[in-house]
Amino acid sequence: MEKIANYINGALVPPGSNHYLDNYNPAKGEVYSLIPDSDEKDVEDAVAAAKSAFAAWSELPIDKRSAILLKIASLIETHHEELALAECIDNGKPLKLAKTVDIPRAAANFRFYGSIITGFSSESHMTDVTAINYTVRKPVGIAGCISPWNLPLYLFTWKIAPALAAGNCVVAKPSEITPMTAYLLSKICIDAGLPKGVLNIVHGLGSKAGEAIIAHPEIPAISFTGGTVTGKKIATIAGPMFKKLSLELGGKNPNIIFEDCDFDKALSTSIQSSFSNQGQICLCGSRILVHESIYERFKDSFLEKTRNLVIGDPLADGTQIGALVSDNHLKKVLSYVALAQQEGGTVLTGGKQVHLNKGLENGYFMEPAVIEGLDYRCRTNQEEIFGPVVTLTPFKSEEEAVLYANSTEYGLSATIWTERLNRAHRVSERLKSGIIWVNCWMVRDLRTPFGGMKQSGVGREGGVEALRFFTEVKNVCVKI
Ligand code: NDP
Repeated sequence: MEKIANYINGALVPPGSNHYLDNYNPAKGEVYSLIPDSDEKDVEDAVAAAKSAFAAWSELPIDKRSAILLKIASLIETHHEELALAECIDNGKPLKLAKTVDIPRAAANFRFYGSIITGFSSESHMTDVTAINYTVRKPVGIAGCISPWNLPLYLFTWKIAPALAAGNCVVAKPSEITPMTAYLLSKICIDAGLPKGVLNIVHGLGSKAGEAIIAHPEIPAISFTGGTVTGKKIATIAGPMFKKLSLELGGKNPNIIFEDCDFDKALSTSIQSSFSNQGQICLCGSRILVHESIYERFKDSFLEKTRNLVIGDPLADGTQIGALVSDNHLKKVLSYVALAQQEGGTVLTGGKQVHLNKGLENGYFMEPAVIEGLDYRCRTNQEEIFGPVVTLTPFKSEEEAVLYANSTEYGLSATIWTERLNRAHRVSERLKSGIIWVNCWMVRDLRTPFGGMKQSGVGREGGVEALRFFTEVKNVCVKI
């Protein structure tokens, strides 16, 4: 059985303890490879390698640093079939999604940061006519990057690429549930000629390897994407150490459908925003709020489309719903369907585990669920489920839509469907979400700041915000 290796000091190495964890193929419910169960010692080795590499990497001329990152982007593109297949087997997502979204976006992350670093500049200000102030931005040193399992390579590279571009060395940990593409990325980095120690990938459990990265005194900046509960725990460790922290956390995103929307577009995009990647995208719109005048029409059409979604082998052409990422996660999502019923909701379709055939009998598949009849304040409508489960709720007025939308502790993203320009702007203004899409979903511009409000996180990723995060700032004031 394949053993994944850590990537430390430019080499693929076993964990010091020689202990491994099982890595499951969620479509089969079977172990198919082994993951290093790394600990503090492995993180210590990674930090030592990063420390040794830092001076040379941070002082490398920017065009040379850029060229290496662009080479990594090209190699991700060259290996995209292999990476997409690995991600599909590791995660359970349809192969088509990995091929068209995850892997191209991972390459784009390296290409984007490899490019914009060459134009990254500091500011200079003339203060009246008495002084010149200029700002110097230097890499922080070693950045700790920790990512989740839902978009494994895409979110991993979303952190690593700006950290490296800004001149830092990195110690990174992918989710223990989906380590394979990060492992393949190690090999790509070796082929791309990334100097040894610049990027170090330590595999293993969040509670062990992850916490060792967070708590390490020589890692001054932490970029984390994952659940809000984990984010809080990380903040309690990193906060008193005064580390720079970027936390991209959970969401419970509203998808607001006004009566003046383009109905067909709202309908088809809502199917995607509800169930893409089995609903396991932090930006999925899990609360669909529909104006009462079109509620029944929308409901009927949405249910028909949901029932027609093809649940199947992630590797097969035509599969739209693959497996959930793990047995534990499937159980959690199913428990929310049960909770919704206890809370008085009606499951209009789906919500049951599916047992496929031809070797997939033990896979973690479920029918996408649509639930109605719930109060907007109940737990099902307040807590992140992170699976193929959406609620439908009618609203009477714009006021009520905004009230429902803003009622959760999260504020990651929101989608608005309306053809009225002033309404689009007015409602966007009132929503407490870090990202608002009008008449679209998941459209990405890498130059824009990305992140959530409230319990969805602190800090912003994307564009120059990420480069700034991974630098420390000094202001020099010269009297003239
Ligand atoms: P988790 O919070 O469970 O884990 C995220 C990462 O943190 C994993 O690598 C995990 O390792 C690690 N980790 C867990 N505990 C610790 C710890 N104590 N110290 C350091 N690291 C730790 O999230 P999931 O992987 O379950 O991902 C799903 C969550 O991610 C959802 O809440 C989703 O909304 C959120 N998310 C947010 C996004 C955003 O941009 N805002 C984007 C995508 C997802 P291990 O796997 O070993 O537990």
